[in-house]
Amino acid sequence: MVIAVEQQTGRTQRVLIVDDEVINLKVLSNLLRSEVNVILAKSGEQALRKVRSSVPDLIILDVKMPGMNGFDTLSALRQYPPTHSVPVIFITGLSDEHYEEKGLLLGAADYIFKPFHPGIVKARVQTHLQLVHQRNMLEHLANSDSLTSLANRRHYKRILSQEWLKAIQTEHPLSLAIFDIDDFKRYNDQFGHDAGDLLLQQVSDLLARHFADESLLISRFGGEEFVALLPNYPQEQARQLIMAAVALIARETDITVSAGGSTCIPIDTSSSSDLFSKADKALYVAKDRGKNCVIWSEELFL
Ligand code: GH3
Ligand code: MG
Ligand code: MG
Repeated sequence: MVIAVEQQTGRTQRVLIVDDEVINLKVLSNLLRSEVNVILAKSGEQALRKVRSSVPDLIILDVKMPGMNGFDTLSALRQYPPTHSVPVIFITGLSDEHYEEKGLLLGAADYIFKPFHPGIVKARVQTHLQLVHQRNMLEHLANSDSLTSLANRRHYKRILSQEWLKAIQTEHPLSLAIFDIDDFKRYNDQFGHDAGDLLLQQVSDLLARHFADESLLISRFGGEEFVALLPNYPQEQARQLIMAAVALIARETDITVSAGGSTCIPIDTSSSSDLFSKADKALYVAKDRGKNCVIWSEELFL
């Protein structure tokens, strides 16, 4: 799932080391490589190229380098959104306080002077990586629904506004579908709230797996409603995928779901809430027509 909530737990962290002196790269990578994935760059320019293919969790940056120096490299990293908030530790032989101040003012996380004590470098790197890990965990928690582990409404809203802008720029279609469990109140009344919770988890797992290979977002919008956001999906392709999901739920669980969808090519003057409300109206019609089915708003000329 390309734009799902980022799963940070368990992944080996990546540290990019940038230094023009090969011996420094060697010493630092020997020091760290048993615990992290080390990426090496011999210049600021090379570092900027490398972060495009793999965004590191932490960057150790030499200040004095031919070509782009450490300060210029840091400024460039701050302007590139994926590395905007990646912590940077400066390593330098310059024991000048003005350089230290300049580095910290530019937003460096820490400063280490050469010749360095390996144990201190290691300890500082570990502290910053731990902070990164904690920040990622918090972000993950803030973006996911605790019952189902799907993306939550907050995350969905952020991705919707990003994808909306992208679709305006690219003039590509954007589809959105809302799923709502049929007669869920009755299910809760009959089997109890805990069984209802288990069913929500089962439905979420099925949806997550159904959409796993697609570059789209499936989120728990609230209660027993789920929203799928399908960037670059024309109407018919989106409708087929949603119909298959509705059929899967009916086949694999004790309940059914209904879905309403809508597709548009956004323009500057339109709003993403129009897309949602069209899908919501289509969902209403799906319920009205007997549930366990999919209605697309464009079929209704809404
Ligand atoms: P319809 O087919 O028209 O959608 O009927 P419905 O009964 O599914 O819809 P209604 O909106 O009347 O009821 C939704 C039910 O979903 C009521 C509420 O208790 C239940 N529900 C919402 N969130 C949760 C949850 O987190 N856990 C459980 N167990 N039930 C939930
Ligand atoms: Mg509902
Ligand atoms: Mg319902």
